[in-house]
Amino acid sequence: MLDAITLEGFCAAVIHVDRQGHCHGALGICRPFAVVLVDVQVVGDDQELVAGHLENFVVVNRHGNAPIERKYRLAICARQIEPSNRNHCARSTITFGILSVSFHKSMKMKIETLAVHAGHTIDPATGAVATPIHLSTTFERDVEGTYSRGFMYTRNNNPNRQALERGVSMLEGGETAAAFGSGTAAAMALFQTLAPGDHVLAHVDAYYGTTRLLREIFLRWGLDVNFIDMSDLSAVKNALRPKTKLAWMETPSNPLLKIVDLAAVAEIVHEKGALCVCDNTWAPIIQRPFDLGADLILHSTTKYFGGHCDVLGGIIAAKVENDFFQRIRSIQYEGGAVPSPFDCWLVLRGMRTLPWRMRAHSENAMKVANFLAQHRKVNDVHYPGLSSHPGHEIAAHQMSMFGGMLSFEVRNGRDAAMSVAAKTNIFTRATSLGGVESLIEHRASIEGAGTTSPEGLLRLSIGLENADDLIEDLDQALG
Ligand code: PLP
Repeated sequence: MLDAITLEGFCAAVIHVDRQGHCHGALGICRPFAVVLVDVQVVGDDQELVAGHLENFVVVNRHGNAPIERKYRLAICARQIEPSNRNHCARSTITFGILSVSFHKSMKMKIETLAVHAGHTIDPATGAVATPIHLSTTFERDVEGTYSRGFMYTRNNNPNRQALERGVSMLEGGETAAAFGSGTAAAMALFQTLAPGDHVLAHVDAYYGTTRLLREIFLRWGLDVNFIDMSDLSAVKNALRPKTKLAWMETPSNPLLKIVDLAAVAEIVHEKGALCVCDNTWAPIIQRPFDLGADLILHSTTKYFGGHCDVLGGIIAAKVENDFFQRIRSIQYEGGAVPSPFDCWLVLRGMRTLPWRMRAHSENAMKVANFLAQHRKVNDVHYPGLSSHPGHEIAAHQMSMFGGMLSFEVRNGRDAAMSVAAKTNIFTRATSLGGVESLIEHRASIEGAGTTSPEGLLRLSIGLENADDLIEDLDQALG
């Protein structure tokens, strides 16, 4: 259950209660919001909440509403009192001793604010502003044998992982999320929710690792898979079957930056009762797949979320916390491909600057794309921000910016492309993307046998350097 709340006028509250099997997560509170976190003092069979510390809120005793057992040491309950005393609009329900609060009068926080605060809490024990990293793999059990603080064993759940999942689901506007040790592990978990005989529709220009996963592992697992160009809506319609369970969309795609019309594909796929997944790795913040009909969003958080090429991770956010998502959740902790607490911490830290970085990546990429589009040694530039790009109109409609990734085809093919990559000084020849430093990569040789990347194609991950320097570097390398 996720409540992202802002209260009109003067303050806001973000409270999230996780339910994971027998575990109930600790509560996360976004720093600038007037929320009271209290300890529960058990008085006889009764319970009181004490230590409210912000005057806009009062702590209320919920003991009349539902039984709370002694064992629950932490609870939260906040009721807002506006100065005018008009807006007592909090609704609250107790779930196993943890209270979730939602407010009728809500409005959405802006994305930059959400990115900075979602998932972050002031450490109640120390007041630490930066979230502590909880390296402990195991957590104390109560004398009664329960885990009232919500954590038992780090493979099942961990405070840093929970904070990251909460933060990303809030950012994407979903109800929940499950974090993994890599984007590929997240994709793997998603496909593992399916049963032999189920049919998957995947974008032909999806990330090579994902298509390889489907071809080399899940065909043997018994999934039936079709790769189609999802920018062609009639191809999507024709490829759907009665057993289609999942459509895997990726836009902009890798490495040709093809644009899939998310809303149109989702409508077609939903008509047949299948789910839509969007790999949004290349366009976090600037593309909102849940608003466009996706049911699930995947990110390789190795890329823009982490933002500094120093952490591997993946996450699946779900619009609705339904049975399908519960299967992903159980694969997460039973399969164990979970991220370390430090990795979660790094990704959540990266998320704080994500909106601003995406803006700068996009602005730089637009300048570089314009430069390359004019260059006599360049055949083709694949960037959805260019009006010449076949997906430009759809991209302009479904993205707020065009992102930091682009690719271009060097005249004279593979050798010429390799030589350009070899001559760059600021761009680093390396795979991956989404970091502050610009990278250049010859995709066909990285992807190897079966690649569909043109031999003359170079992919650029545009970083946060000054665009003029990047252009100068490419100019001298192209010669
Ligand atoms: N999805 C996309 C679009 C990617 O570009 C990548 C990696 O490059 C992945 C998924 C896989 O992520 P990871 O490398 O974290 O496993």
